Amino acid sequence: PFKQRLLVVANRLPVSAVRKGDASWQLEVTVGGLVSALLGITDFEAKWIGWAGVTVRDEIGRKSLTEALAEKRCVPVFLDENLVNLYYNGYCNNILWPLFHYLGLPQEDSLATIWSFQSQFEAYKKANQLFADVVKEHYQDGDIVWCHDYHLMFLPKCLKEQNENIKVGWFLHTPFPSSEIYRTMPSRSELLIAVLAADVVGFHTYDYARHFVSACTRILGLEGTPEGVEDQGRLTRVAAFPIGIDSDRFVKAIELPQVKNHIKEFQERFDGRKVMLGVDRLDMIKGIPQKLLAFEKFLEDNPNWQDKVVFVQIAVPTRTDVLEYQKLTCQVHEIVGRINGRFGTLTTVPIHHLDRSFDYHALCALYAITDVALITSLRDGMNLVSYEFVACQASKKGALILSEFAGAAQSLGAGAILVNPWNVTEVAFAIAYALNMPSEEREKRHHHNYVHVTTHTSQEWAETFISELNDMVVEAQLRT
Ligand code: UDP
Repeated sequence: PFKQRLLVVANRLPVSAVRKGDASWQLEVTVGGLVSALLGITDFEAKWIGWAGVTVRDEIGRKSLTEALAEKRCVPVFLDENLVNLYYNGYCNNILWPLFHYLGLPQEDSLATIWSFQSQFEAYKKANQLFADVVKEHYQDGDIVWCHDYHLMFLPKCLKEQNENIKVGWFLHTPFPSSEIYRTMPSRSELLIAVLAADVVGFHTYDYARHFVSACTRILGLEGTPEGVEDQGRLTRVAAFPIGIDSDRFVKAIELPQVKNHIKEFQERFDGRKVMLGVDRLDMIKGIPQKLLAFEKFLEDNPNWQDKVVFVQIAVPTRTDVLEYQKLTCQVHEIVGRINGRFGTLTTVPIHHLDRSFDYHALCALYAITDVALITSLRDGMNLVSYEFVACQASKKGALILSEFAGAAQSLGAGAILVNPWNVTEVAFAIAYALNMPSEEREKRHHHNYVHVTTHTSQEWAETFISELNDMVVEAQLRT
């Protein structure tokens, strides 16, 4: 049967490559949200285009990596070190990421910063063009090209310049900030215009979509409609497509023997105490210091709980070469040390803080034995940890405390206890409330979230986006 071809373009391929010899590569597949979303879609023939995370200078290396990746339906985009530095470390991670999470633009007011901003922006455009060149090599008439995330905001424009008939979708995995924040961006207009070249532009929540439309009306003077943004009769569809997870994979994992072993081990370890869990990359947007302070306040206000609760915080290291992240790590360690020193005993400490990642099975087991999950992101595009926790709680039916600034608050709001992570007193109160919650209320809240997570899956997300894109293109053809 005929299958429509789908080219998925993202900064990183879902495969990590390690060079083992002149022409030999070891490839490891990484299962992120996007990968599991697309694995579940069998109506399309999908191919991935992106950077493999390594610099390859020689022809033999490039050729052999391309061949190895082809077996995984992946196509590499080669970027040299200098470009990666300016485009990825610079423009993407130091400018777009913080700005989109309301952390503002870099503050140093030296001419050097302003100068490097321009060169980073040029590198960003150049990198996006390189992605477009690779798409061009693999594109066939009728293909759908789905561009992902803030790394590739110029890609829709580059693609439409090549061929205006390409069906182009773009999806943002982070928040899109209020236009009051966005308009501080030096390259604000060019970026918006480039994104608007897409046929469909998608966000996790209605708020982000609305912010984007306002940015287009205020900055570009275009017309915003309930459907999207209009420019001289051409409509770019703008809508919310909240991502989900492959919930089946998590629900089934709980029954696997290796997960059951972990569950037993953790239950024995934490016997007699309620378990609270946080799972975050160690990033400023996750609000880890704020969360720890709230937990400290809770222990202070509730002495009867001091030896009856343990808080496990997994803090996965990220961008460890960047000074701000190193400072955050120190700050977190200091707070954890203080709280454990203050409330620990000879045999136990209230916080288990771990600077590492866990494999899938251990993570599922941790989710399953948790009584209260504590997610206090200051800003978060969606937050999949909250979804994964809910999917693993079929038997425990634990409580979820969730920041109102995570995209997930829009979908899990009715079952979760929503908090303002900046209000330490409020979060401390929510912890007490969650730990003391009557089972009837707990089960009702869990049920609400469980139904949502298991019906709004990542597969459904991808299918909805793609069918919207197909429909849009048909409508546009009817208009002309
Ligand atoms: N995760 C993991 N190992 C760990 C901790 C987390 O694989 O030790 C995964 C987790 O399962 C989730 C992802 O990392 O799928 C985090 O996604 P989320 O949307 O919550 O936050 P992000 O890191 O994308 O900001």
